[in-house]
Amino acid sequence: MLKCNECGNEITYHERVLALRSIKCKKCGVRYNIEIKNIPLFLAVIASAFFIHDYLMGVLDENLGWISFIVILGTVVILMPFNQRLEKKKS
Ligand SMILES: [Zn+2]
Repeated sequence: MLKCNECGNEITYHERVLALRSIKCKKCGVRYNIEIKNIPLFLAVIASAFFIHDYLMGVLDENLGWISFIVILGTVVILMPFNQRLEKKKS
């Protein structure tokens, strides 16, 4: 659970999924950059996404390759917010 350092407002998972690179606290308006907390974990997520891709390409018809792509994208997007920290933007 991430909170705004200034006002303690909770930055929700949902907000972080949509924010990608930077986020603004809804309550006090402070801006944060979203940084990756744990690089090895980040790489593990990417690696497992490719592993899933390989597996799906093995079992799916090649015309359904886009499903595999969606799965990879989904995996990364869903897992990323668990591996983020907020870095206050210097204004
Ligand atoms: Zn705040």
